[in-house]
Amino acid sequence: MKYHDNMERSADVLRQALQLMKRHGSALHPVNYTLWYEYVRGENPPLRAAMDRYLGQHLQLDEAVAEALHKRFVTGSGLDATLVERTAEGVSTVLTGMAESAARAGDQTAQYGTSLSRLSQELAGSAHSPALEELLSTTRQMQTAVTDMQQRLAASQSEIGQLRAELQRVQEEARLDSLTGLANRRAFDQCLRDCLVQADTPARRYQRPSLLIADIDHFKRINDAHGHPYGDHVLRVIGGILKDCTPQGCLAARIGGEEFAVLIPSRSLSEARVLAETVRTRVATAQLRRPTQEAQAPRVTLSIGLTLFRPGEEGAVFMERADQALYASKDSGRDRITVLAG
Ligand code: GH3
Ligand code: MG
Ligand code: MG
Repeated sequence: MKYHDNMERSADVLRQALQLMKRHGSALHPVNYTLWYEYVRGENPPLRAAMDRYLGQHLQLDEAVAEALHKRFVTGSGLDATLVERTAEGVSTVLTGMAESAARAGDQTAQYGTSLSRLSQELAGSAHSPALEELLSTTRQMQTAVTDMQQRLAASQSEIGQLRAELQRVQEEARLDSLTGLANRRAFDQCLRDCLVQADTPARRYQRPSLLIADIDHFKRINDAHGHPYGDHVLRVIGGILKDCTPQGCLAARIGGEEFAVLIPSRSLSEARVLAETVRTRVATAQLRRPTQEAQAPRVTLSIGLTLFRPGEEGAVFMERADQALYASKDSGRDRITVLAG
């Protein structure tokens, strides 16, 4: 889906979309923005027809339905985080434009109000004639209208401010894994790309990044024995340990179902190794809650792979080597760390 709307057109579409979102109780997040934006634009007839059909029977578009419509008629498959971000950026640009227009209009209105106020004082002090009386009364009416306009502009500005804050929150959320609160795969990939661009500059050649990849051992057994919700609990506990252990300037992420990564941009390999050992030990000795009153809490372990960046190599090759190190840990008995130096 590509938008070529200019600023005025997109602001107009957005205004209508926001009104509809309010009317149908849609939460202000990018999935809903995109749906309603598309709806108002009218260039996605199957989506519009589906929304009309649904809204004909129900007043509100609930979250699950919105997500399903988005998947089916907008992205085709799943929630495309890039699209979410682009939509949010587009909306943010429009909102910035609206905030600026409102501020400008507010300034002009204030100036006009001051002139009117001066004028009515001067008129009130001058000799009275029916024509002047009328001018005075019209000027006072105008003054009231201008004051009212100023209040409305201020209210719009504050509403726009709230929308922007909400958008920012949504954009931040789009980078987080909702289960563990760690960075998600997408945020990790982006961070890795940025980190490697920096690492390839001559000044950084002596401070190469390290990458740690960790995978929970026999996690399927935990799910099978205690159920998926308990498995989720384990993932959250491990996420918490990673958050706790990861030093400033490094990024811990959940990069797959039961797979985690820590990107360590500027520490030695031996420091990274100490971090890996801390994570491994803390997970292996974690006191998990019991799955049921009868069952003992299971012992959970991690297999870890650690490697060092080779200047000039592709991010995928760097990741691949960390993966090889991880699989060496799995093959040699799990609950251990393998280091493949660059
Ligand atoms: P190995 O030691 O070789 O890594 O074995 P494993 O059982 O951990 O690996 P396998 O790839 O066979 O199974 C991974 C399991 O992780 C299967 C899948 O159901 C589970 N899993 C993936 N994502 C989630 C999740 O979000 N929540 C829960 N509870 N389980 C998940
Ligand atoms: Mg795995
Ligand atoms: Mg596993």
